[in-house]
Order: sequence, then structure tokens, then C-alpha cells
Amino acid sequence: MSEQLSRREFLASAAVGVAAARARDIPFPMRPPQPLPPSRWAAKPVAVSSANGLRAVQKAFDMLLQGADTLDAVIEGVKIQELDPNDDSVGYGGLPNADGVVQLDASCMHGPSKRAGAVGALEGIKTPSEVAKLVLKYTNHIFLVGEGAKRFALQYGFKEEDLLTPHAREVWLHWRANLNPTDDYLDVPETQDMSVRPTGTINCDAVTPQGDISSVTTTSGLAFKIPGRVGDSPIIGAGQYTDNDVGAAGSTGRGESNIKVCGAFLTVEFMRRSMKPTDACLETLKRVVQLTEPRLLGPDGKPKFSLNFYAVNKRGEFGAASLYPGSYAAHDGKEAKLRDTAYLYERPAASR
Ligand code: ASP
Repeated sequence: MSEQLSRREFLASAAVGVAAARARDIPFPMRPPQPLPPSRWAAKPVAVSSANGLRAVQKAFDMLLQGADTLDAVIEGVKIQELDPNDDSVGYGGLPNADGVVQLDASCMHGPSKRAGAVGALEGIKTPSEVAKLVLKYTNHIFLVGEGAKRFALQYGFKEEDLLTPHAREVWLHWRANLNPTDDYLDVPETQDMSVRPTGTINCDAVTPQGDISSVTTTSGLAFKIPGRVGDSPIIGAGQYTDNDVGAAGSTGRGESNIKVCGAFLTVEFMRRSMKPTDACLETLKRVVQLTEPRLLGPDGKPKFSLNFYAVNKRGEFGAASLYPGSYAAHDGKEAKLRDTAYLYERPAASR
């Protein structure tokens, strides 16, 4: 890829027929959209996301080409998923904890201002990514949790709502019924069982034509988690990380395994040492495997969980890797589409 890419090359291929973004269309903007540099661009603009983020990368990329701020672009992108009741891994409609309560986690970093914000175990607010952005923008702190995070959001005009959709409630009730054959909840017959996707999250990272970078990760966390459990998503350096001089990275999958290696930070550090985004993601996954306790490894030594990393660098190069074959979403200037991740192992761990 050439170091410098012409603006015309992108304008020709990208869907930019949309009206220019206006500051008032973006809640709590980091800055109003600004005209793009007139001639040569410092970076190839790009938006990368987990596989559930096709709409997110399209939205973020459109905003980048309208001159929006990099963090505003990724937050508006992931909000589509947070507000979608059919995505049971994020925001509204997310699967609840063991008590049937939806507790949401999110974090973000804004490269140009070197700021970070996060919320953990947030209840009743559909868009935790936006609340994390408010922590980043308006406070001297980085991480608010639980009741305090909710009160903070309400002060900025967010509405408290019941986040448990009928679908998510049903899935939770089935889980509880089948948890233990000797408890007081009667097991639900196999035929009525529902397939549960136990994990899910959205991470989105973007680079503007000026080479400014941001990242955000938002999730309802592991389904049926112990109430109060906070995963990797809201942890700066684990769920996502941005260094505006280098790049950004983020993660989805088993959060506990990511936290121990500070995976997003580590991936950015690998890129700092000149690794390409995909190689950096793979290297981080190798570290995860090294630090995995035996109970989480199959007899063949492979992890019995899934974990994915996504990364972009300062030039707009991007990539993703997972333990097992998977996919991720990216808008590279031509189109938003799903691509295959690089991976460590061909097949999932054998069961004992
Ligand atoms: N990483 C999220 C967590 O551990 C879950 C996921 O991505 O599936 O909370």
C-alpha cells in the first residue's frame, strides 16, 4: 500500500453521497465535522469491527469522509448495535446476568486528545459507549461503575429503561431452568431448549484521513455472569486501546483471558515494534495461550474458549486474528464487508 493516498481515490469509491454530518446530529461531539485535507492524506481512512459490526463500519466510515472526529465516528457506529434489540450481546436486548439483570460495560479511547473513558456494570442505559465517551469528555476520571455510572448518565439526560427484551428474558429463564437438575426450577424439555450464544460484543476502531485514531468496545458481557462481574470490554488496555502515534486494537471473546495479557495494549505495543496489525493480533493470542490455566485447555492443549483481536495502524492498515477461524467487518474505502480473520488453530479444542 502506498504511504500516501489521494483523496480522489477514496471519494471515487466510497459512498459519500450522504449529506455532510452536522455537529448537532452527533450527541456530545468531540468536535464538529471539519473539511477533509484538500490534497494528500496522511492515512488511508478505515473502520474495523467485530463481525457483528458491518453497519457500524459503514456508519463510521461515512462519518470519517464527512470530516467527523474519529471517536464520534466509532461511537455512532457501535450505537447501531447497542440500540438493536436483536443483538443479544450488546446494549438493549443484551443477555442478562445470573439474576436476570442486564449489566453493560464499555470503554473508549480518543487518540488525538489522549483521553480514555469507561463504564462498568451499568444498568438501565441503552448506550454505554456514549456514557463512556461522556466520562472521557467531561470528567477528570476514567472509569465509573454501577450506580454511580447510572446516576452520571441520568445527569446528562439519558433515560433509564428496562433493557431486558422479551427474547433475552426467555433465554435467561431457560438457562435458569436447566442450570441444575436438582434445584427447584423444573428443567425445560430438550425440544424446547433455546440455543444460547454465550458471548458477544462489538469493538470498532477507526483511522481518519489525517491519521487520527480511536477505539471503542461495548458489551453486555458474558451471559448469565455473576452479578457485578465486569469483563475486559471496559478495561482500558484490555477491551480496547489507542495510541495516536501507533494504532488501535480491541477484542471480543472470553474477557478473563484477555484481561490477563492486557491484550489491546499488547497488540498496540507489538505494532509499535513494527508488526503489521494482523501479526500483532496473532502474537497477542499466542501470549493468551501461554497464560491459559490448564482447566481451560483441551487435551490437545488448545483453549476451550474463543477470543478475537482487531487492529488498525497509523497508516490505515488493518487486520484481525482469532484462536479459531472467524470473521470481522472492515470498511477499507471501497466497501464494508466481512473478511476472514487470521487464526492460531484450524479446529476448536477437542473435548475430554
Ligand atoms: N469480552 C466480553 C466479556 O468478556 C464478552 C464477549 O466479547 O463475548 O465481557
